[in-house]
Amino acid sequence: MEEQKGRYVRENGIGKLTAEEAKACAAYAADYADYLGIAKTERRAYAEAVRRIEAQGFRELGGFEALKPGDKVYRGYHGKTLMAAVIGREPVAAGLRVIGGHTDAPRIDLKPVPLCEKGGLAYFDTHYYGGIKKFHWLVHPLALYGVVVKPDGTKVEIAIGDKPEDPVFQITDILPHFGAEQSGKKLSEAFDPEDMDILIGSAPAVGAPGDAEAKECVKRNILRILESQYGITEEDFLSAELELVPAGLPRDLGLDRSMLIGYGHDDRVCAYAGLKALMDLPATPTHTAMVLLCDKEEIGSVGATGMDSTFFENSVAELIARQTPAGAPVDLAVRRALEASRMLSADVCAASDPHFPNADSTGNMAALNAGGCLIKYTGSRGKSGASDARAEFIADLRRIFAKDGVAWQAGELGRCEKGGGGTIALFMARYGMDVVDFGVPLLNMHAPWEAAAKFDCYMTYRAYRAFMAE
Ligand code: MN
Ligand code: MN
Repeated sequence: MEEQKGRYVRENGIGKLTAEEAKACAAYAADYADYLGIAKTERRAYAEAVRRIEAQGFRELGGFEALKPGDKVYRGYHGKTLMAAVIGREPVAAGLRVIGGHTDAPRIDLKPVPLCEKGGLAYFDTHYYGGIKKFHWLVHPLALYGVVVKPDGTKVEIAIGDKPEDPVFQITDILPHFGAEQSGKKLSEAFDPEDMDILIGSAPAVGAPGDAEAKECVKRNILRILESQYGITEEDFLSAELELVPAGLPRDLGLDRSMLIGYGHDDRVCAYAGLKALMDLPATPTHTAMVLLCDKEEIGSVGATGMDSTFFENSVAELIARQTPAGAPVDLAVRRALEASRMLSADVCAASDPHFPNADSTGNMAALNAGGCLIKYTGSRGKSGASDARAEFIADLRRIFAKDGVAWQAGELGRCEKGGGGTIALFMARYGMDVVDFGVPLLNMHAPWEAAAKFDCYMTYRAYRAFMAE
């Protein structure tokens, strides 16, 4: 084993991998690509995570009356938010080591009453979700995923657009020949979100006499297809969650295949890294290791399945209750556990792009292939809204990463007063725990297709594993 002390890098680290590490990195990236191709929505990310951890012996927490070191448990909420943990040798009340990420990603949602017909074409009316550059979503083939729930509780799962035989959907754009008016507008004003309708059909209903002349006959034909193929009526859209995401699967990027292009790296690349690290812990950890995968981060961590809910503290209470004699209070133990915990807020960051030098902050932005990136503070305009991690915590992380040969870097989110952003870190910091952002640098963050370096993905996993195993 080569000398790996202090593997902090600000330069391309690929050449410093041992042959064994390079092989592990390639295998890691291939399995991550498989996961990402399945986990195209928060619900699918949840289902795939549960499938994988159950195969590794994790069981639903509700089935445990008491917990002992080494137990592998999980707890889900609404099929979207997930907590998975390996119980440590110390009691849970002594604090946890948490990796917290999110599995929702920017996308185009259907409105509650989505079906409409305009100019003889049928469309879904939409409302976008998360921070997107609207023009990115025009023209590309889109896939439709989600659920339609009937009043009797029946759930119809929809997944159309990623199988080779599937149709896809599209938001159309004006051709360049007629685009002078559009291209004269400011980018922020050129695309009205109410015009981002999804083209879903052009054929009129046939069969009944006189149908071709009937009003909204293309829409009626779509309704007929929905009814016959999926058992859905127009009213069923009222209780549905349907999301348009880019059609297509993750691919190797570049002739050297050093990068991965895919939809939803933010933040499934960190979610996967956390899960894999938890499943790969070499032994029962000292402190209970937990991976927390939340929904709704992209719209402010709100709602019952977002980080700004009580799911995390309730989950910790459920763990502690199973290590506490019946009838004894758990509340104070929960508060102590939360305060004594440490967390890596597992979210992606922006990688420096040489084509946009004005976004960079004099070499303080993450570089591709320099490893997972630690972001001491997020926020914007004078660190507003940041949970600025304390130096003592970061010093200890340096020790942990160096001991394990993790390649990593430190950065911030763009130039002062130009960049900025937020993650779930501040919601965790209010418990008094040490928390800092650590994740994979991305090119094109929040675009339909984001790019990540395989080296950075692998090293982020190594960092999470070292943190939880410590
Ligand atoms: Mn994110
Ligand atoms: Mn994001």
